[in-house]
Amino acid sequence: MHRHPLIMVCTCEIAGRVRGKAFPAGDLPSRLVKGVGWVPTNTMISCFGPIYSTPFGTTDDLMLVPDPATEVNVEFGDDSANEHFFLGDIRHLDGKPWSCCPRDFLRRGLAALKAETGLDLVSAFEHEFVYTGVEDAPGAPYSLDAYRRQGIFAEALIAALRSAGTEPDSFMPEYGARQYEVVVDPATGLASADRAVVLREITRATAHRLGHRAIFAPILSPDGVGNGVHVHFSLRDGNGRPAMYDAKGHLGLSLLGARFVAGVMHHLPALCAITAPSAVSYIRMRPNRWAPTHATLATQDRGAAMRVCPIWPGGEPGRQFNVEYRCADAAASPYLALGAIVWAGVDGIRHHRKLPHGEGAALPADLGTALDALEATAEAKTWFGETYLSAYLMHKRGELASLAGLDEAEQCARYAATY
Ligand code: GLU
Ligand code: MG
Repeated sequence: MHRHPLIMVCTCEIAGRVRGKAFPAGDLPSRLVKGVGWVPTNTMISCFGPIYSTPFGTTDDLMLVPDPATEVNVEFGDDSANEHFFLGDIRHLDGKPWSCCPRDFLRRGLAALKAETGLDLVSAFEHEFVYTGVEDAPGAPYSLDAYRRQGIFAEALIAALRSAGTEPDSFMPEYGARQYEVVVDPATGLASADRAVVLREITRATAHRLGHRAIFAPILSPDGVGNGVHVHFSLRDGNGRPAMYDAKGHLGLSLLGARFVAGVMHHLPALCAITAPSAVSYIRMRPNRWAPTHATLATQDRGAAMRVCPIWPGGEPGRQFNVEYRCADAAASPYLALGAIVWAGVDGIRHHRKLPHGEGAALPADLGTALDALEATAEAKTWFGETYLSAYLMHKRGELASLAGLDEAEQCARYAATY
């Protein structure tokens, strides 16, 4: 069959699904300027498909403009179409950012951090997922056998991720049934969230070409083990030097580092509404699943909400030192999840917040409670802006209402089908 190459430009909005439009590859120069058409109500498309309610109606036009720095063009070496896409920004037709652009939410947070402190954020996302191309087998966690049985998937994935410009760090069989994990290297600012979007899509794309799925839903059954997204972060000064580490500081944190982390801790219940934004995210965050249940900060504890990671032998301690945010999952847009962490960290620096001591409070037990905490957070109105915050709350409450009457297993199944 004759074929003409296409390029897609995509965004990852409130639903955490990657959506966009494709155009003939030759049109790229003009599309880099004018983008593709987009509409406000698209941000209200739920992860399940329907728009349950919208403040935007059916009116207005926006453009989704590809960022040239984000180009992904992966050839899988089979007969399939390349995964050729860009990630983009949602703008008004005059080029100004739209107030509900998820990438701009993160960009503004990073700019606030820079303006307040001169610092940049370096981060890396760890992703767990279920690969449907293997059977569950007894004793599988971390086993060479579970690694072997995924066949060529892992090698095809690493090749595709490298070709997509991400730098894979590791791949492993994880603890849960048919669960694997892939980690890519850290990147600065916006690029790290772009990488997380690319990682999810390239993992799905690789599984798809092998006739299977990579499922990133937070948890697949109520008694199972969840798929977490762990966000490791640290701060760098304007010359790229580490700024979060102080060997003499509490838990190894510098003064600014401690304030940043204290801001994230302070806002954890509200942040959960953004970083763990599905109904079943709260089934993942239950005891004995290596997922957080309380707002705790601890050194080297995988049950904590925030984990101060170890420093390994060799290499500069300050460059290795990082804190891991463990309350996220892949139902969240990486732009919103990382943006929320940055905005809360900036708030901690602005208000000279102090690290909490002792047992942390329980995290919200369900999405509704987390959304109420977000709504009650005065600062969130400045992070998002009024329009974006109320659209976010409306979107997520609509999603919750659509699950009424479903038991936990049925809810898990609905999310597994979409993520
Ligand atoms: N699967 C766990 C989670 O949902 C994390 C396991 C780990 O520490 O890697 O966060
Ligand atoms: Mg893991």
